[in-house]
Amino acid sequence: MTDLRQLTDVCVHCGFCLPACPTYQLWGEEMDSPRGRIHLVRQVVDGAPVSPAITGHLDACLGCLACVGACPSGVRYDRIIEEARVLVETRAARGFGDRARRAAVFALFPYPRRLRLLRGPLRLAQRLGLTSNRVAKVLPATPRALARLAPPVRPRVALPTLVPARPGGRTGPARARVGLLTGCVQSAFFGHVSAATVNVLCLEGVEVVVPRGQGCCGALARHTGRAGQAARQARRTVKAFTEAGVDAVITDVAGCGSVMKEYADLLADDPKWSDRAATVAAKVRDVTEFLAELGEPLAPRHPLALTVAYHDACHLSHGQGVRGQPRALLRSIPGLRVVSPTDADVCCGSAGVYNLLEPEPAAQLGARKAAALRATSADVVVAGNPGCLLQIAASMRMDGGPVIPTRHTIEVLDASLRGVSPLS
Ligand code: SF4
Ligand code: SF4
Repeated sequence: MTDLRQLTDVCVHCGFCLPACPTYQLWGEEMDSPRGRIHLVRQVVDGAPVSPAITGHLDACLGCLACVGACPSGVRYDRIIEEARVLVETRAARGFGDRARRAAVFALFPYPRRLRLLRGPLRLAQRLGLTSNRVAKVLPATPRALARLAPPVRPRVALPTLVPARPGGRTGPARARVGLLTGCVQSAFFGHVSAATVNVLCLEGVEVVVPRGQGCCGALARHTGRAGQAARQARRTVKAFTEAGVDAVITDVAGCGSVMKEYADLLADDPKWSDRAATVAAKVRDVTEFLAELGEPLAPRHPLALTVAYHDACHLSHGQGVRGQPRALLRSIPGLRVVSPTDADVCCGSAGVYNLLEPEPAAQLGARKAAALRATSADVVVAGNPGCLLQIAASMRMDGGPVIPTRHTIEVLDASLRGVSPLS
């Protein structure tokens, strides 16, 4: 609690952060701005109960971190909202419907096995057209959002535990040995993105380990105030990557990378784990960041005659400061043009499970993002976070306008290395 008081004390109420905040842009309400939320957190620190009104304003925060970069006083809103959410989780009196909704989402999402069990029924529902907007609109808000967001179920990709380096497509010594996070939602529904990451790394001369003992990295729990669960999942991930003996830990999911880089803080009070957590955290890199640090590319790029609209995922740009590397990687592909939509770094409304728990503002932000991306006339929308890609695709399908295909950054690079179109 002392920490939270110190953190909130740094705010000088200047309001420079307000224009950067997506929820303030939507509603123009002081209590839905960073400054307003800091004021509410301060009230709780001073002993006020976590009322339904305070809970609502804090729940409505996307955790997008746009306010952190906008603040000239260096207020750590990221830490404030993380700590505040722990207080809300333990003290707020939520209604039955809200509790049931949240319990259902949290019982499913961080668990890869449960998510994999969902693949069959989801595939069947998609074949029968039960996830279409026309049918989904009769469902309650959260299942409706889930039906609209669900990706087409693709064949499962089983990655080997060790993939040798193939520098430039030939046998040769590895430039590095890395571990790949396959996570929870990623392993159940985005195995093709992980496979693309592995292929690119191997062709760039990197040996890839995919540790079997891993699961959810703890990002979802960390971002929603479930501190105990976040710590447990972080410890398991730290163990898996420590035992893997790797030079770097690679993620291709912005939210996961952002939290894993904070493992030292997350496990700082755990003397048994704090050193190992700090060691693993220092090795975490987004795949685009790692490739930029690796040096001269070894794998030849085949031309792709495409215009790409690059969307900055919040936990990559605001959370990790990774903005130039993905654009530079895309520009390394001959024939490919990269354009930025208006407000490229404003949240699309995905924000982890925000679009399931707060579907209305998420849909409004998604509609704005879809319009900005369409205005670029790009052939494909690219981002470094599967959640953003789902949100953008669903937002484009919702309004009946043209739908631009979406791809992960690494899928586009992988297609170029393999000499195929990322849209085939
Ligand atoms: S968070 Fe920063 S920018 Fe926003 S009101 Fe406080 S000091 Fe000003
Ligand atoms: S994290 Fe995003 S939504 Fe939340 S207060 Fe900051 S800018 Fe606004």
